[in-house]
Amino acid sequence: MSKPLLQCPVCQQPLYLTQHYSCGKHHFDRAKEGYVNLCIPPIRGDDALLVNARANFFQTNPYKPLMVKLQSMVASFSTVLDVGCGTGAYLEFMKRNDSTLTTIGCDGSKLAIKKAAKLDTQTLYMVANMNALPLLNESVDVILSVFAPYNSEEIQRVLKPNGQLIVVQPAPNHLFELKQVLYDIVKLNPDTTLTIPGLTGNLNEQLEFEMILNQDELQALFAMTPYVYTSSQQASMKLKALVSLNIKASFKISVFTK
Ligand SMILES: [Zn+2]
Repeated sequence: MSKPLLQCPVCQQPLYLTQHYSCGKHHFDRAKEGYVNLCIPPIRGDDALLVNARANFFQTNPYKPLMVKLQSMVASFSTVLDVGCGTGAYLEFMKRNDSTLTTIGCDGSKLAIKKAAKLDTQTLYMVANMNALPLLNESVDVILSVFAPYNSEEIQRVLKPNGQLIVVQPAPNHLFELKQVLYDIVKLNPDTTLTIPGLTGNLNEQLEFEMILNQDELQALFAMTPYVYTSSQQASMKLKALVSLNIKASFKISVFTK
């Protein structure tokens, strides 16, 4: 039996996989798609609209340069956990390019995890609460958070000593041209410097590239952003009328060490 990574969400004892995941007292079945639901009690995660938009957007993978970058950053490690992994696009990419990596994805949305597990059978996906991660203390080398909320105490608990947290946030120019279509006055994203209590910040870099998105990709991207809730109907129509659009993707990548 390999060393356990997961802990029981009820009693925090190690979970072992036999026919199901079990700590001896509590049992958690694997869904037919292969994921396990360790979120007790259930929480309200992303809905079908957002989950499908994400899956559609990553089908053609316009964020590939970001994935390549993240892959190079985790290359020397063996266990990667993506907190708020959504439909699992980043982990699927990493595992496909390096089968020796152990990839684990957590998200509060059962719909997202179900989709992720269907698209990527090589990663361990689980429905989980980011404020009570079902992972044992000091069990993972790298934690990845791409545009996702995380609990810094849980990150510290779960990371191995010298483990790394990689946080990806939108840089000021991220999706500027999309916002130009949607809003009369375009505001840049705030340029904040992250600090994580208990972890040492050791790298801040920006990754920027151009994407040429067709109408389907534009609609998927739009539905993934908060702009879908703040844009007028007129603005949505304007976006719908475009055949394609050149858009800057601009990410801020911060790395912290435990
Ligand atoms: Zn238990």
